Amino acid sequence: MKILNYGSMNIDRVYAVAHTVRPGETILAGGMTIYCGGKGLNQSIAIAKAGGEIFHAGVLGEDGDLLLDALTRHQVDTRYIRRVAGASSHTVIQVDEQGQNCIIVCPGENVRVTDEDVVAVLSGFVAGDMIVLQNELDNTPSILRKAAAKGLTIVFNPSPINDLLKTYPLECVNWFLMNEIEGEALTGETDPERILRVMAQRYPSASVVLTLGAQGAYCAHAGEQYFQPAFQVKAVDTTAAGDTFTGYLVTGLSKGAPLQATLERAALASSITVSRKGAADSIPTWQELEH
Ligand code: ADP
Repeated sequence: MKILNYGSMNIDRVYAVAHTVRPGETILAGGMTIYCGGKGLNQSIAIAKAGGEIFHAGVLGEDGDLLLDALTRHQVDTRYIRRVAGASSHTVIQVDEQGQNCIIVCPGENVRVTDEDVVAVLSGFVAGDMIVLQNELDNTPSILRKAAAKGLTIVFNPSPINDLLKTYPLECVNWFLMNEIEGEALTGETDPERILRVMAQRYPSASVVLTLGAQGAYCAHAGEQYFQPAFQVKAVDTTAAGDTFTGYLVTGLSKGAPLQATLERAALASSITVSRKGAADSIPTWQELEH
Protein backbone atom coordinates (compact mmCIF):
# COMPACT_ATOMS: atom_id res chain seq x y z
CA MET A 1 0.00 0.00 0.00
CA LYS A 2 1.32 3.45 -0.94
CA ILE A 3 1.84 6.22 1.62
CA LEU A 4 1.43 9.87 0.68
CA ASN A 5 2.75 12.55 3.02
CA TYR A 6 1.40 16.02 2.25
CA GLY A 7 3.77 17.92 4.48
CA SER A 8 5.92 20.89 5.23
CA MET A 9 9.57 21.25 4.29
CA ASN A 10 11.71 23.92 5.97
CA ILE A 11 15.26 25.17 5.72
CA ASP A 12 16.39 25.35 9.37
CA ARG A 13 19.07 27.98 10.05
CA VAL A 14 20.48 27.26 13.48
CA TYR A 15 22.53 30.02 15.15
CA ALA A 16 24.81 29.31 18.11
CA VAL A 17 24.45 32.24 20.54
CA ALA A 18 25.69 33.01 24.06
CA HIS A 19 22.13 33.99 25.02
CA THR A 20 18.98 34.40 22.95
CA VAL A 21 18.49 37.94 21.71
CA ARG A 22 16.59 40.34 24.02
CA PRO A 23 14.24 43.16 22.93
CA GLY A 24 16.23 45.99 21.33
CA GLU A 25 19.48 44.04 21.42
CA THR A 26 21.87 43.10 18.59
CA ILE A 27 24.13 40.11 19.16
CA LEU A 28 26.75 38.16 17.24
CA ALA A 29 26.25 34.49 16.51
CA GLY A 30 29.10 32.07 17.07
CA GLY A 31 28.18 30.28 13.86
CA MET A 32 25.29 29.09 11.72
CA THR A 33 24.44 25.61 10.47
CA ILE A 34 21.77 24.77 7.92
CA TYR A 35 19.60 21.68 8.41
CA CYS A 36 16.69 20.23 6.49
CA GLY A 37 13.54 20.37 8.60
CA GLY A 38 9.79 20.64 8.76
CA LYS A 39 7.72 17.98 10.45
CA GLY A 40 6.50 16.71 7.10
CA LEU A 41 9.99 16.20 5.70
CA ASN A 42 11.21 14.48 8.88
CA GLN A 43 8.23 12.13 8.90
CA SER A 44 8.72 11.23 5.22
CA ILE A 45 12.35 10.37 5.90
CA ALA A 46 11.28 8.34 8.95
CA ILE A 47 8.78 6.39 6.82
CA ALA A 48 11.42 5.76 4.16
CA LYS A 49 13.90 4.55 6.78
CA ALA A 50 11.22 2.27 8.21
CA GLY A 51 10.86 0.71 4.74
CA GLY A 52 7.55 2.30 3.68
CA GLU A 53 6.64 3.17 0.08
CA ILE A 54 6.54 6.92 0.63
CA PHE A 55 5.64 9.81 -1.68
CA HIS A 56 6.12 13.36 -0.38
CA ALA A 57 3.87 16.08 -1.81
CA GLY A 58 4.16 19.83 -1.41
CA VAL A 59 5.47 23.04 -2.89
CA LEU A 60 9.11 24.18 -2.87
CA GLY A 61 10.60 27.57 -3.70
CA GLU A 62 13.73 28.31 -5.73
CA ASP A 63 16.00 27.74 -2.74
CA GLY A 64 14.59 24.28 -2.04
CA ASP A 65 17.19 22.08 -3.75
CA LEU A 66 18.73 20.90 -0.51
CA LEU A 67 15.32 19.79 0.78
CA LEU A 68 14.59 17.91 -2.42
CA ASP A 69 18.05 16.31 -2.28
CA ALA A 70 17.53 15.19 1.32
CA LEU A 71 14.26 13.48 0.43
CA THR A 72 15.71 11.86 -2.70
CA ARG A 73 18.81 10.67 -0.84
CA HIS A 74 16.54 8.84 1.60
CA GLN A 75 14.52 7.17 -1.19
CA VAL A 76 11.43 9.34 -0.72
CA ASP A 77 9.56 9.68 -4.04
CA THR A 78 9.39 13.41 -4.86
CA ARG A 79 7.36 13.39 -8.09
CA TYR A 80 4.48 15.25 -6.36
CA ILE A 81 6.61 18.18 -5.24
CA ARG A 82 5.91 21.29 -7.32
CA ARG A 83 8.63 23.90 -7.75
CA VAL A 84 7.68 27.59 -7.83
CA ALA A 85 9.39 30.97 -7.93
CA GLY A 86 9.88 32.53 -4.50
CA ALA A 87 11.33 31.35 -1.23
CA SER A 88 10.75 28.10 0.62
CA SER A 89 9.78 28.17 4.29
CA HIS A 90 12.67 28.68 6.67
CA THR A 91 13.27 28.88 10.37
CA VAL A 92 15.63 31.02 12.42
CA ILE A 93 16.64 29.01 15.46
CA GLN A 94 18.82 30.47 18.20
CA VAL A 95 20.42 27.91 20.47
CA ASP A 96 22.11 29.26 23.60
CA GLU A 97 24.95 27.76 25.63
CA GLN A 98 22.49 25.87 27.84
CA GLY A 99 20.88 24.29 24.77
CA GLN A 100 17.67 26.35 25.14
CA ASN A 101 16.22 27.48 21.84
CA CYS A 102 13.96 30.17 20.37
CA ILE A 103 12.43 29.55 16.97
CA ILE A 104 10.93 31.79 14.31
CA VAL A 105 9.16 29.93 11.50
CA CYS A 106 8.87 32.03 8.35
CA PRO A 107 6.33 30.32 6.08
CA GLY A 108 7.29 30.48 2.42
CA GLU A 109 5.77 29.01 -0.71
CA ASN A 110 5.60 25.49 0.68
CA VAL A 111 2.61 26.14 2.94
CA ARG A 112 0.60 27.47 -0.01
CA VAL A 113 -0.90 24.30 -1.40
CA THR A 114 -3.77 25.03 -3.79
CA ASP A 115 -6.92 22.97 -4.37
CA GLU A 116 -5.67 22.17 -7.89
CA ASP A 117 -2.43 20.83 -6.37
CA VAL A 118 -4.40 18.57 -4.04
CA VAL A 119 -6.64 17.19 -6.79
CA ALA A 120 -3.65 16.51 -9.04
CA VAL A 121 -1.67 14.78 -6.30
CA LEU A 122 -4.56 12.67 -5.04
CA SER A 123 -5.25 11.42 -8.58
CA GLY A 124 -2.14 9.24 -8.13
CA PHE A 125 -3.67 7.38 -5.18
CA VAL A 126 -6.60 5.03 -4.66
CA ALA A 127 -8.93 4.01 -1.83
CA GLY A 128 -6.99 2.12 0.81
CA ASP A 129 -3.73 4.03 0.29
CA MET A 130 -2.59 6.07 3.28
CA ILE A 131 -2.12 9.80 3.65
CA VAL A 132 -0.13 11.39 6.47
CA LEU A 133 -0.81 15.00 7.45
CA GLN A 134 0.43 17.46 10.04
CA ASN A 135 -0.85 20.95 10.81
CA GLU A 136 1.71 23.01 8.92
CA LEU A 137 0.06 23.66 5.54
CA ASP A 138 -2.55 26.32 4.71
CA ASN A 139 -4.90 23.96 2.96
CA THR A 140 -5.05 21.06 5.44
CA PRO A 141 -8.90 21.08 5.81
CA SER A 142 -9.31 20.75 2.05
CA ILE A 143 -6.74 17.92 1.90
CA LEU A 144 -8.59 16.13 4.73
CA ARG A 145 -11.95 16.37 2.92
CA LYS A 146 -10.65 15.36 -0.48
CA ALA A 147 -8.61 12.44 0.89
CA ALA A 148 -11.64 11.19 2.86
CA ALA A 149 -13.87 11.46 -0.23
CA LYS A 150 -11.37 9.22 -2.08
CA GLY A 151 -11.38 6.64 0.70
CA LEU A 152 -7.74 7.11 1.70
CA THR A 153 -6.76 6.09 5.22
CA ILE A 154 -5.98 9.40 6.93
CA VAL A 155 -3.27 9.63 9.58
CA PHE A 156 -3.24 13.04 11.25
CA ASN A 157 -0.65 14.46 13.61
CA PRO A 158 -2.19 17.67 15.09
CA SER A 159 1.15 19.46 15.32
CA PRO A 160 1.76 22.32 15.77
CA ILE A 161 -1.30 23.07 17.88
CA ASN A 162 -3.15 26.26 16.96
CA ASP A 163 -6.69 27.64 17.14
CA LEU A 164 -7.44 26.66 13.55
CA LEU A 165 -7.43 22.97 14.50
CA LYS A 166 -10.87 23.36 16.07
CA THR A 167 -12.29 24.32 12.68
CA TYR A 168 -10.85 21.29 10.85
CA PRO A 169 -13.06 18.39 9.66
CA LEU A 170 -11.37 16.02 12.11
CA GLU A 171 -14.21 13.50 11.71
CA CYS A 172 -12.39 12.55 8.45
CA VAL A 173 -9.38 11.26 10.39
CA ASN A 174 -8.81 7.49 10.75
CA TRP A 175 -5.70 7.63 12.95
CA PHE A 176 -4.74 10.44 15.33
CA LEU A 177 -1.05 10.35 16.28
CA MET A 178 -0.26 12.79 19.08
CA ASN A 179 1.79 13.47 22.16
CA GLU A 180 0.47 14.53 25.57
CA ILE A 181 0.58 18.24 24.77
CA GLU A 182 -1.40 17.78 21.57
CA GLY A 183 -3.77 15.40 23.37
CA GLU A 184 -4.44 18.00 26.05
CA ALA A 185 -4.98 20.75 23.48
CA LEU A 186 -7.56 18.65 21.60
CA THR A 187 -9.45 17.33 24.64
CA GLY A 188 -8.74 19.68 27.56
CA GLU A 189 -7.64 16.62 29.59
CA THR A 190 -4.18 15.84 30.99
CA ASP A 191 -4.65 12.25 32.13
CA PRO A 192 -3.84 9.87 29.24
CA GLU A 193 -6.83 7.57 29.89
CA ARG A 194 -9.17 10.57 29.93
CA ILE A 195 -7.64 11.94 26.72
CA LEU A 196 -8.39 8.59 25.06
CA ARG A 197 -11.93 8.56 26.47
CA VAL A 198 -12.75 12.05 25.14
CA MET A 199 -11.24 11.18 21.75
CA ALA A 200 -13.35 7.99 21.62
CA GLN A 201 -16.52 9.95 22.43
CA ARG A 202 -15.79 12.61 19.83
CA TYR A 203 -14.38 10.43 17.06
CA PRO A 204 -15.82 6.96 17.72
CA SER A 205 -14.52 5.37 14.54
CA ALA A 206 -10.99 6.79 14.76
CA SER A 207 -7.94 5.07 16.24
CA VAL A 208 -5.68 7.06 18.54
CA VAL A 209 -2.01 6.74 19.38
CA LEU A 210 -0.91 8.87 22.32
CA THR A 211 2.84 8.99 22.94
CA LEU A 212 4.12 9.81 26.42
CA GLY A 213 7.86 10.31 25.95
CA ALA A 214 10.00 8.06 28.16
CA GLN A 215 6.87 6.38 29.56
CA GLY A 216 5.77 4.85 26.28
CA ALA A 217 2.57 5.09 24.25
CA TYR A 218 -1.12 4.21 24.41
CA CYS A 219 -3.06 3.03 21.42
CA ALA A 220 -6.85 2.79 21.14
CA HIS A 221 -7.97 0.83 18.09
CA ALA A 222 -11.18 -1.04 17.20
CA GLY A 223 -12.49 -1.03 20.77
CA GLU A 224 -9.21 -2.33 22.26
CA GLN A 225 -6.63 -0.39 24.25
CA TYR A 226 -2.90 -1.20 24.24
CA PHE A 227 0.01 0.19 26.20
CA GLN A 228 3.48 0.03 24.73
CA PRO A 229 6.21 0.84 27.27
CA ALA A 230 9.25 2.77 26.05
CA PHE A 231 12.56 0.92 25.88
CA GLN A 232 14.92 2.04 28.65
CA VAL A 233 17.84 3.90 27.11
CA LYS A 234 20.09 6.82 28.00
CA ALA A 235 18.42 9.68 26.13
CA VAL A 236 20.84 12.27 24.74
CA ASP A 237 18.56 14.12 22.30
CA THR A 238 14.81 13.52 22.03
CA THR A 239 14.43 15.44 18.74
CA ALA A 240 12.54 13.35 16.17
CA ALA A 241 11.34 10.76 18.74
CA GLY A 242 7.71 11.34 17.75
CA ASP A 243 8.54 11.46 14.03
CA THR A 244 10.34 8.13 14.29
CA PHE A 245 7.37 6.60 16.11
CA THR A 246 5.09 7.95 13.36
CA GLY A 247 7.35 6.61 10.59
CA TYR A 248 7.46 3.08 11.96
CA LEU A 249 3.80 3.02 12.94
CA VAL A 250 2.57 4.25 9.55
CA THR A 251 4.86 1.84 7.71
CA GLY A 252 3.67 -1.12 9.81
CA LEU A 253 0.02 -0.18 9.19
CA SER A 254 0.64 0.23 5.44
CA LYS A 255 2.07 -3.29 5.28
CA GLY A 256 -0.77 -4.82 7.31
CA ALA A 257 1.62 -5.86 10.11
CA PRO A 258 0.04 -6.86 13.45
CA LEU A 259 -0.65 -3.76 15.55
CA GLN A 260 1.12 -4.81 18.75
CA ALA A 261 4.28 -5.82 16.91
CA THR A 262 4.14 -2.51 15.03
CA LEU A 263 3.86 -0.51 18.25
CA GLU A 264 6.80 -2.39 19.73
CA ARG A 265 8.92 -1.76 16.64
CA ALA A 266 7.99 1.96 16.69
CA ALA A 267 9.04 2.19 20.35
CA LEU A 268 12.30 0.36 19.68
CA ALA A 269 13.13 2.62 16.72
CA SER A 270 12.36 5.80 18.70
CA SER A 271 14.46 4.63 21.65
CA ILE A 272 17.41 4.38 19.24
CA THR A 273 16.63 7.88 17.90
CA VAL A 274 16.71 9.45 21.38
CA SER A 275 19.97 7.70 22.23
CA ARG A 276 21.85 9.69 19.57
CA LYS A 277 22.15 13.35 18.61
CA GLY A 278 20.41 14.91 15.61
CA ALA A 279 17.01 15.02 13.94
CA ALA A 280 16.33 12.98 10.77
CA ASP A 281 19.91 11.64 10.79
CA SER A 282 19.39 9.94 14.15
CA ILE A 283 16.40 7.86 12.94
CA PRO A 284 17.45 4.20 12.52
CA THR A 285 16.77 2.27 9.30
CA TRP A 286 14.75 -0.96 9.31
CA GLN A 287 17.97 -2.85 8.46
CA GLU A 288 19.53 -1.48 11.65
CA LEU A 289 16.51 -2.61 13.64
CA GLU A 290 16.81 -6.15 12.25
CA HIS A 291 20.26 -6.31 13.86
P1 ADP B 1 7.16 13.80 20.54
O1 ADP B 1 8.57 13.86 20.05
O2 ADP B 1 6.14 13.92 19.44
O3 ADP B 1 6.87 14.68 21.72
P2 ADP B 1 7.31 11.61 22.47
O4 ADP B 1 8.30 12.43 23.25
O5 ADP B 1 6.02 11.27 23.14
O6 ADP B 1 6.97 12.27 21.05
O7 ADP B 1 8.07 10.27 22.06
C1 ADP B 1 7.55 9.32 21.13
C2 ADP B 1 8.04 7.94 21.51
O8 ADP B 1 9.49 7.94 21.51
C3 ADP B 1 7.65 7.46 22.90
O9 ADP B 1 6.37 6.87 22.90
C4 ADP B 1 8.76 6.47 23.21
O10 ADP B 1 8.52 5.20 22.62
C5 ADP B 1 9.98 7.09 22.52
N1 ADP B 1 10.76 7.90 23.50
C6 ADP B 1 10.67 9.24 23.71
N2 ADP B 1 11.51 9.63 24.70
C7 ADP B 1 12.16 8.50 25.11
C8 ADP B 1 13.17 8.21 26.10
N3 ADP B 1 13.67 9.19 26.88
N4 ADP B 1 13.58 6.93 26.24
C9 ADP B 1 13.09 5.95 25.46
N5 ADP B 1 12.15 6.14 24.51
C10 ADP B 1 11.68 7.40 24.34
